[in-house]
Amino acid sequence: MVLSGIGRRASPSALVLVVRSDERDAATMLELRPTCENCNRPLARDAADAMIDTYECTFCRDCVDAVLSNVCPNCGGGFERRPVRPAQAWGEAATLGLLPPPPSTKAVHKPVDHAAHEALVALIGGRSPSQR
Ligand SMILES: [Zn+2]
Ligand SMILES: [Zn+2]
Repeated sequence: MVLSGIGRRASPSALVLVVRSDERDAATMLELRPTCENCNRPLARDAADAMIDTYECTFCRDCVDAVLSNVCPNCGGGFERRPVRPAQAWGEAATLGLLPPPPSTKAVHKPVDHAAHEALVALIGGRSPSQR
């Protein structure tokens, strides 16, 4: 990401970072990991069963529901369906000649330690993701 300027709003404490949309780079975009971290199932760019949390920990829906109880074993966060990245440029990206960055090819395969995960789920005690 390249910051092209810093502006100030009416509130003196509110600094506003201005980022030009043609200065996006891959490092600032969601990492689309190629597999489920637990079961290693392939999760394509457009997989309907890819789930992700705010740290980009990525699992399939079956593992999130049946193994993880919607608790990330890495960070304790909850999961949402991973958005699909378009296969081609549309809209402003097309105008600017930007191609969508390809999904990551770097698999993270770290099967869940069931005993440790049970303890984490018990510690979280049924809190919804927004209450953790
Ligand atoms: Zn899985
Ligand atoms: Zn996580």
